[in-house]
Amino acid sequence: MEKLIITIAPTGSIPTKKNNPNVPIKPDEIIQTGILCEKAGASIIHVHARDPVDETASTDFQIFKEIYQGLSRETNLIIQISTGGRAGMEYEKRSERLSLKPEMASLTTGSVNFPSFVYANSPDLIHALTKDMQTYGIKPEIEVFDVSMIQNALDLADQGLMRHPLHFDFVMGLKGAIPATIENLVYLKNTIPREATWTVAGIGACQLPMCTHAIAMGGHARVGLEDCIYFRKGELASNEQLVKRIVKMSNAMDRKIASPDEARKILGLT
Ligand code: ZN
Repeated sequence: MEKLIITIAPTGSIPTKKNNPNVPIKPDEIIQTGILCEKAGASIIHVHARDPVDETASTDFQIFKEIYQGLSRETNLIIQISTGGRAGMEYEKRSERLSLKPEMASLTTGSVNFPSFVYANSPDLIHALTKDMQTYGIKPEIEVFDVSMIQNALDLADQGLMRHPLHFDFVMGLKGAIPATIENLVYLKNTIPREATWTVAGIGACQLPMCTHAIAMGGHARVGLEDCIYFRKGELASNEQLVKRIVKMSNAMDRKIASPDEARKILGLT
């Protein structure tokens, strides 16, 4: 089986130090986390920016730039910048960071009800972000919260805005999105094109079982405090610890771990 690509999503836009002191907030903390997680076996880092003072999700270009430059200098990780936005973040704010030309960026191809707000991605916004990624030569990671988002992505590829093979991330187990069951995972996997690659991000307690299924099914795994702040019930995790556990499990299942350069080959990054 193909080697396993591990993505670390260390920060996200929601958990704070108060929830888990291991959540990296400041650029240098995110860069240090990247260094540790690369050593542990991660090959992709999914990046969000935070306001260093109040810890809220930030759209500040300078913060994204500082994180991007630090990670590029200190690691060989594939940097995947999130284009996600909380309610009210307009296109310009979500797109500006793409001018850093990371190798990858996340792209959600539809809207979804998050527990307390609508994560709105209008057709126009998706189209514009996809076009920007094409302009900058960035490979999208298509974030799938529901089955319709796969079809939306295929339509964009049909329009020539994305190149096959596509890469998907199935975000499962978030309230309001597709439930994290093995039946749903098999269905999602069977709905994407055969040559596409995929990873799974299970939210909360779903992280570990969904990653385990993915390792067995030939998919890839995303872990990190963005998706789950616990290592097990009642015990807070660190990002590095979550990567190490997946490495251990994959090795036990006789599946080797991809280095960043091997992940580049698997994903067709140039
Ligand atoms: Zn994210």
